[in-house]
This record gives sequence, C-alpha cells and structure tokens, in this order.
Amino acid sequence: MELTAPELWSRIQESVQASVPEQSYLTWVRPAVAVAFTSNELHLEVPSRFHVEWLEDKFGPVLSASSEAILGKPIKITVTCSATALSVPVASVDLTTPLIEDAAERDIPSAASDSSTVPLLNDRYTFERFVVGADNQLAAAAARAVANRPAKTYNPLFLYGGVGLGKTHLMHAIGHHMGSENPQRSVCYVSSEQFMNDLVASIQQGTTAAFRRQYREMDLLLVDDIHFLEGKERTQEEFFHTFNALYDAQRQIVLTSDRPPKDLSGLENRLVSRFEWGLVVDVKPPDYETRMAILQKKAADDGFSLDSEVIELIAHSCTASVRELEGAVIKLLAYSSLTNREITPDLARAAFRGALGQQRERGPVLSPERIREIVARRWRVRADALASKRRTKDLTIPRQVAMFLIKEAFDLSLVRIGEFFGGRDHSTVIHSIRKVEEDMERDPVFRELVHAAREDFTGTDSASV
Ligand code: ADP
Ligand code: MG
Repeated sequence: MELTAPELWSRIQESVQASVPEQSYLTWVRPAVAVAFTSNELHLEVPSRFHVEWLEDKFGPVLSASSEAILGKPIKITVTCSATALSVPVASVDLTTPLIEDAAERDIPSAASDSSTVPLLNDRYTFERFVVGADNQLAAAAARAVANRPAKTYNPLFLYGGVGLGKTHLMHAIGHHMGSENPQRSVCYVSSEQFMNDLVASIQQGTTAAFRRQYREMDLLLVDDIHFLEGKERTQEEFFHTFNALYDAQRQIVLTSDRPPKDLSGLENRLVSRFEWGLVVDVKPPDYETRMAILQKKAADDGFSLDSEVIELIAHSCTASVRELEGAVIKLLAYSSLTNREITPDLARAAFRGALGQQRERGPVLSPERIREIVARRWRVRADALASKRRTKDLTIPRQVAMFLIKEAFDLSLVRIGEFFGGRDHSTVIHSIRKVEEDMERDPVFRELVHAAREDFTGTDSASV
C-alpha cells in the first residue's frame, strides 16, 4: 500500500502520541506538517528553528522507531523550518498580485524576500476567533459593519489603542470577510512601514506609476500602524493622494494607530482631518471576564486544555494586553514540555514566577558565567560544554542565547563575550546575537524561552566585570 506523506505522518503522530506526554506532543509533534514522502525519506516542516532542533534531538529516536514499525523498514526523517507551518503567512508577492484571491493556492513561500514583500492575511485573525468584550465591543461592531457594507458606513474606519489589543486582528478579519463574500474584490493589507518601503523602492526603480495604480485600484485598503508615518513627509504626501483617490472612488479604507488622529502630531493636518471623517474608535485592554473568555477560546480553538484554576491564574496576572495573555499560554506550554510535566496550577505558578507576583528567589550575584549556567540549565546541556570549543549541535542554540543575554546584561565587548565561549571571535558572537534576535522576532515559542531564561536571573544583582 502506498502511503502519502500526510497519511504516513498522521500514523506516526498517532503512535508517538501514545508514548510521549500530551503537552510535548501538542507543542512539538502536532504542529509539524509532512510535505513529501519518497521511498526512503519523509520530509517534515515545522514552524520554527527551535522545533527543528527539538524534533530532531528529543523525538528523533521515537519518530524513527514509529516509522519503521509502520513501514517495516527504516526511513530517513528530515525536518526543516518553514514559514507555512506557522499560522502567520508571510509570502513574497509582487504588488501586482491580488492578495486574497491568490492566498488559497499560493505556493510555499520562498525564503528569499524582496522589497515588495507583503504580509498576507493571517488565517487566524477572523471575526470568529475574535472575542468581544466590553472594551473592544465598539471596535468589533464597527469592523463588522465595515466588512458587511464597505464604504457605506464608516470611511475611513480608524482603530486605535495600545499594543497587542487586537487592532491588526480586526483589520485582517475585515479583509477575510470581504474576500470571502466577494472574491472578486481586491483587498490589500499593508503596514505603514511596508507602504513606505514600497514607495521608496518604486521611486528607485522608476515605477511610481505602477505603485500608485496598485494601491488606488483596491476595493479595501488596510493600513496598519499609521503612526509610523509621523515625520515621513514624502510618504505622507503619497498616502494623502492614495487616500483621496480611494475615498473619492468609494473604496473602503481602514487604518490603525497607537493614538487617536488628533494626537498624531507628526502627521500633516490634512491627513489627520481626513482620518476623522469616518469613525474613530479605540480598543482598550480587556477586562478580567474578557481575558478569561479569550483564554478559553484559545484553548478550544487550538485544541489544548487548561483547567479553570490555571485560566484564572493567567487572567489575573496578565492584564496589559491579549498578546501578553497569548505569550503566557505559549510559555506555559513550552515550560510544561521542557520539564515534562502536566499543566497544573502549581506548574503555572512556577512558570510565571515573578510575573505572578510571587517572591523571586534571590540567587547569587549575576555574572556572565551565571547567565551561561542558567541558560545551560534551561536547555539541559552542561555549562562547561557551553564554555568549551565543542561544536555539537545541541550546544549551538543555548550558546547563542547565552551570548545574547550576556550582551544584553553587561556592557562587554564582543571579543570579551567570545572568551566566555571557548574564545570565539567577535564575528561569531555578533552573528549569534543577531540570530537570536531574528528568531525571537519570528518564533513566539523561542521568544518565550529566552524571556523565561532572562527571568531566571533578572532578580539577581549585577556584578561589574
Ligand atoms: P494590535 O494590532 O492591537 O497590536 P493584534 O491584533 O496583533 O494587536 O493582537 C495581538 C494578539 O492577540 C493576536 O494574536 C490576536 O489574535 C490576539 N487577540 C487580540 N484581541 C483578541 C480578541 N478580542 N480575541 C481573540 N484574540 C485576540
Ligand atoms: Mg497591530
């Protein structure tokens, strides 16, 4: 019987699920996607580099054993990191490509990006997944109204509020809704920064006419984080004309910002006043009940279970934003998986030590060596191995993380930092630090692990070195 890659993978998953703790399975094994299966190789894609290492190191033997049991012969299992396994699709697309229409059939995005990289709509940012509470009710209702009757109700719709409160989510939801109701409508989601980058690129390449046409032909233009344009006069000028063209043609415009229009002092008045033509609505941090509801929905949507005490614990302690709540859940999943323990209220307390207002242990005086030790412990490698010249694979990531955290905590030269790691040269150190920065940006699980390692020592006193 010929098995396809997904069939084989789902059988392997089933057998692995029975033999590893559930949280580990959910965190590391389930997100992997099988993309190819040839006679002697199964190729998996996972959302992060961290997943790659984890699957290879911790699950390699069990995956091999299961596949051999299923197929009756050993095969090679390769794991690579892919943007598509992530829920945030970021693809390299030409501005001439209609965004939504192509999203369903797009290929795996290439790693190469160019100046016209436009993030597509995030599949998870839909109205169905958006929990409405007292603090975002108006914004959610306005977004729905705009999605149902574009350019007929509020134009522009201007959403503002702090970071991580769901503005981008609502914007994408409008895009999804319109794209599914009217697939022939063109929708463009762009960050203000991307808008500026595209403009600059078009000026350099002498293609401003095409740039203008692209944006001005949209039925729905979603421009995120417009405060970014403060002080950028040339881009504001261009955006002003784009805005007018769309508005006059009765196309819907949705904008977000961290402040209301009147507080955007670095924007020209004519733009600010246009932003106030439609509806300006704020999104506030969620209250306790909404935080609980968001956590419950997240668990249900993502298929993991959190008992009500754990949910209460998180909802009590993470008050600033929805992103913070999500971060807490990711951290908890990672923590439970790292320590091989089920998620219980005690585990949650341990994972959020500090964040949950518990007394942090005061450890020994902080030094680069101590950071190296802490990271080694978190990544379950030996501190002396991190300090050595050894180049084995399991040491790479913790070594990079330790360099990053040391750089952050101490004002040391790169050469000096290298000395704590078997005398690595400054270019290796800088490369390592950049790599950690990039991965933290890209991969929320990795980011939480680095934060967690940092929290292990932020309670200790810094020693001068
Ligand atoms: P902002 O653009 O305001 O900084 P985002 O839209 O990026 O915030 O939201 C941050 C995260 O929180 C996203 O993962 C988003 O899906 C989630 N989120 C925000 N608000 C809600 C909500 N009301 N219900 C469910 N998820 C939400
Ligand atoms: Mg946003």
